[in-house]
Amino acid sequence: MMDSTHFEYDLALLDWHLELGADEAIGETPVNRYELKAPAPKPKPAAAGPTPVVVQAAEPEAVDTAPLANACADLEELRAAIESFEGCELKQGARNTVFCDGNPKARVMIVGEAPRREEDREGKPLIGRAGQMLDKMFAAIGLSRHEEQPESALYITNVMPWRPPQNRDPSPDEIALMKPFLLRHIALAQPDFIVTMGNPSTKTLRETTLGITKMRGQWGEVLGIPSIPIFHPAYLLRTPEKKREAWADLLSLKARLGG
Ligand code: URA
Repeated sequence: MMDSTHFEYDLALLDWHLELGADEAIGETPVNRYELKAPAPKPKPAAAGPTPVVVQAAEPEAVDTAPLANACADLEELRAAIESFEGCELKQGARNTVFCDGNPKARVMIVGEAPRREEDREGKPLIGRAGQMLDKMFAAIGLSRHEEQPESALYITNVMPWRPPQNRDPSPDEIALMKPFLLRHIALAQPDFIVTMGNPSTKTLRETTLGITKMRGQWGEVLGIPSIPIFHPAYLLRTPEKKREAWADLLSLKARLGG
């Protein structure tokens, strides 16, 4: 019997390869395999003797991206610095760098997780189903990413500017690598309020190990800016019974905004 876990994994992998442009199973020039040299025979294991010393490859040193991020004087410089940064493997598999959407002058800045297929294709954060849900949630308290007035506008970014393969969560190392860019993004945009959506964004910016279920609605600060964690709209799509709590958190934000 076919193992459905493998089947789904293989299908997702195939889908991922197709997205990267690997849609041909053959090369451009034919290969005559009869003329290919036979592979060299594997070396025979040495006769019993002293145990060979295994030399471990050194762990690559973590790159400190803070100097690069902090050298950016404005948002356009920061966008350019991220777009030309080659130190994160996720970039290799992404079509676009997803930097921001909305109005950078907005009083409210939203920080999501990482791009998915639609966001990767369009180069904008949160425009898929979860993004549409986000737009509806914030419209309910009079805020929009398309608004010009800072009082009713939204500015949106993600913890990670590149789509992870098969929509997996960004790893702690990848997040740590890109965190200085995110902090610089916040410092340059200077919003009055920050909304962290879901676990990666809340854990990263609030420096907590507590999950979103414990953290939601708990005001705190990020770089001295008042910040509230809320459920991610993708989670609310799967768990509609949590909308009541999300609504309470949105009302709490609305109250702080003064309306
Ligand atoms: N797409 C994004 O851009 N961010 C999210 O957090 C989820 C989907």
